[in-house]
Amino acid sequence: MGLHVDHFKCDNCRSKDFIRVYNFSLRFHGVNFSDDLIYDEQTSEVYQCMECKKRFTREEIEEALAGIRKARRKRTPSTLEG
Ligand SMILES: [Zn+2]
Repeated sequence: MGLHVDHFKCDNCRSKDFIRVYNFSLRFHGVNFSDDLIYDEQTSEVYQCMECKKRFTREEIEEALAGIRKARRKRTPSTLEG
């Protein structure tokens, strides 16, 4: 059996090249019996297609990869997998 690599591809332009984009934010919330605000610093990542600039979240990519795994399993059924 040969080695085969399936890529996650942009569903808009079929490109397989992405760059990572970071969003930084602060989430403020009040504290009981106090005028203070405390905050959480959050960093989120999205992945942007280098061709058409469409953005995907990590979850969307994971989902697509899971779909590829399923499709591949159907095409080449293996008795080794449990
Ligand atoms: Zn694209």
